[in-house]
Amino acid sequence: METKVIKIDRTHPDTEQIKEAGRILREGGLVAFPTETVYGLGGDGLQETAAARIYAAKGRPSDNPLILHIAEVEDIEKLAVDIPELAYRLAEKFWPGPMTMILKKGPVVPYATTGGLDTVAIRMPSDEIARAIIKASGTYIAAPSANLSGRPSPTKAEHVIEDLSGRIEMIVDGGNSDIGLESSIIDLSGEVPMILRPGYITKEDFEQVVEEVTFDSAVLATKPQESVVAKAPGMKYRHYAPKGQITIVEGDTEAVVKKINELAAEQEENGIRVAVLCAEETKARYNCRHVYSLGSLKQEKEISAHLFAALRSFDTEQMEVIYSESFENTKLARAIMNRLRKAAGYQTLQV
Ligand code: AMP
Ligand code: MG
Repeated sequence: METKVIKIDRTHPDTEQIKEAGRILREGGLVAFPTETVYGLGGDGLQETAAARIYAAKGRPSDNPLILHIAEVEDIEKLAVDIPELAYRLAEKFWPGPMTMILKKGPVVPYATTGGLDTVAIRMPSDEIARAIIKASGTYIAAPSANLSGRPSPTKAEHVIEDLSGRIEMIVDGGNSDIGLESSIIDLSGEVPMILRPGYITKEDFEQVVEEVTFDSAVLATKPQESVVAKAPGMKYRHYAPKGQITIVEGDTEAVVKKINELAAEQEENGIRVAVLCAEETKARYNCRHVYSLGSLKQEKEISAHLFAALRSFDTEQMEVIYSESFENTKLARAIMNRLRKAAGYQTLQV
């Protein structure tokens, strides 16, 4: 299949292009489009065959549920039942934006979209191109991250082209994703609201609206999980991992820099391709050949926005061993470290 790539001018979006994307989706085709979190691989969430095509294009296990994207808050009533009042309060505060809510599934949503679950994940993105495409489709769009399963999520159209070219009808290029990490997921289907995936909206943010909110145990994990329930299957499957092995070196900054320099020098001497992943503040202190700064710790959104692109570049540059600093001291630390730990297969070194 030939994949059409179109570039959207954000200041003057071409309505014909948006309409075409909407038409492809309505007819059961697949369109990758930008959102503020990461690029999504969209398909009609109410058509079983479209959902099946999403799984096939990504090579994603079909028990890993999809998030349905909407363009108006009221749309939750079409997709979910027994909606708690809290859902409306959360929507008011955080939508449109990087928050996904888990609610009880309504009858129109096929099990093919929810991975067989009786709950449904719903998000209203703030990206205006994303919302315009959803509206133009006239339906609700299931859109997981637009990467091949197991690879880092795409934060620019080039990443999507790399992974999905030839597998989907269209890729809409809207520039770089602003946040660069997938949405925060909050489960409202149980007794107490529970965060299933940490993201840009933090527990502290949720606590402004929700009296009590807990973390799913897998979110707090610093070791691999034997997660059996497909409640938050993102936790069950291998994720984000570049081919090279990442080791996160944790401890006092001075000790970390010293240790990483020692380890990297040793590997380089043996002819191994080594990369260091660090913050801008410490970048100049590493002597190894390939040093990747994610940005300044003072601008945490830089760190989040650049993480997945860095992970991908380790593959393009055929890095065999990667040493990473820990990024614990930012508001987004929980979300960033959650992705980085998974990418490292939880391999850490304390110094
Ligand atoms: P992705 O869109 O690829 O970033 O991943 C979607 C993730 O949303 C899944 O891997 C799940 O972790 C989560 N998810 C989607 N639907 C549900 C649901 N009904 N219950 C719990 N988690 C869900
Ligand atoms: Mg994903």
